[in-house]
Amino acid sequence: MHQQIPHSTFDQPYTIHTSLLFNSRTLKFDKDRSIRVNPKTGRIISVTSSPPNLGTVSHPDLDLRGDTVVPGFVDSHAHVFVHPYSETPSLYQERDESLTERILRAGNNAKAGLKAGFTTYRDLGTEGAFNADIGVRDAINRGIIPGPRLFVATEALASSGGYEIRQENKIGGTTVPRLSDVCDGVDSVKAGVRRRLGAGADVIKFYAEYRRRTLRFPQPTWPGSKAIKYPPYATGEEGNPILTPMNPPSTLFDQEEMNSIVREAKRAKCPVASHASSPEAVIMASNAGVTTIEHGSLPSEESLKTMKKNNTIYVPTLCVADVELDDKEYRKAVLEHAKQANEMGIRLATGGDTGVPAHGDNVRELELFLEAGISLEDTLRAATLGGWEACGGDWCGYRFGWVGEGWQADLVVLEGDLRKDTGALRRVDMVIKDGNVVVDGGILV
Ligand SMILES: [Zn+2]
Repeated sequence: MHQQIPHSTFDQPYTIHTSLLFNSRTLKFDKDRSIRVNPKTGRIISVTSSPPNLGTVSHPDLDLRGDTVVPGFVDSHAHVFVHPYSETPSLYQERDESLTERILRAGNNAKAGLKAGFTTYRDLGTEGAFNADIGVRDAINRGIIPGPRLFVATEALASSGGYEIRQENKIGGTTVPRLSDVCDGVDSVKAGVRRRLGAGADVIKFYAEYRRRTLRFPQPTWPGSKAIKYPPYATGEEGNPILTPMNPPSTLFDQEEMNSIVREAKRAKCPVASHASSPEAVIMASNAGVTTIEHGSLPSEESLKTMKKNNTIYVPTLCVADVELDDKEYRKAVLEHAKQANEMGIRLATGGDTGVPAHGDNVRELELFLEAGISLEDTLRAATLGGWEACGGDWCGYRFGWVGEGWQADLVVLEGDLRKDTGALRRVDMVIKDGNVVVDGGILV
């Protein structure tokens, strides 16, 4: 921490002096800029060249010279109710954790994400916690708990039997939370979008495909349960390891249904995120006009060309490949695919499917972008302005991800020169959200 921030800092406009500021539009690092912010509106008043021979900076202004300042990070694919499946598999989180525990965990997760420099989350589904993300979002927006600015999907849309907790024993009326808002047919999906909008969703998420036939060869999930003795063929033996031959994904909606989802959402100026991995699903969802494709992890030239043609934003969620893929060759291919997308000029956004990597470790996705060979500047763009575009751009009601007049005063201060050492991504010196300095994960008010 550079200096103690007294409470009075937040009563009046103040100036932040920087020596290295990332410009997410020009992709340049600007030298010696002074940012005037208004903590009451949460917005930037102006960005100007610093006064020549700027000496000691006194309260309430901030001296961030010597560090790298970037716009607040956006995690474009997060699940604030989820913690790593390596700790607790999804089944147990969804079925066995109480709603109270899940909501309290969401509070902790939000705080951890903010502390790591993520001032915005696009949160793509509660995974069995109904519409509870709405209340978490509002509690943050009202200043009750600290956290990133949330744009939430509430429940994802899926077709019958498409995305749900699988259980073999359904006799006796055992109930589990639903994982999706189920709809089938052009009119029914339209009604689904309307339900989500009415509930308060900021973004519509739908599953273009899923591995829905898992109960053909169920996994052993309870103590003493038995594995299928002679499975059709072993995972990874044919095809690719993430799309298991035992249970390959298939599309959950036909083209008309996908078109209907997007048409209805866009009528309300609401962005649409689509879960899709195989080329078939990516192409259908992209042609339907979705805002973003999530995962898209089966490398495909055809998928990339379609996303490029339709100007679809691609959120490759490389963290999923990092966590789930034992096959090193395939992991490499997934990273290479993201790099190729970038080279083709496809708009990218970073989102780790966070929850899969722990909240607080959100920057892992940026590290994987870099490992894939995507430049630091392009990675930072995807993590800032790209995230704003994924949230719907001006449709979302805010401007963030760029440091300019009228935009939200969201800043991450990274220790030292990020260009020389990308390890600085994890050395967060200070986080500013809406012009307020975040202190120990909380916000001084
Ligand atoms: Zn997800």
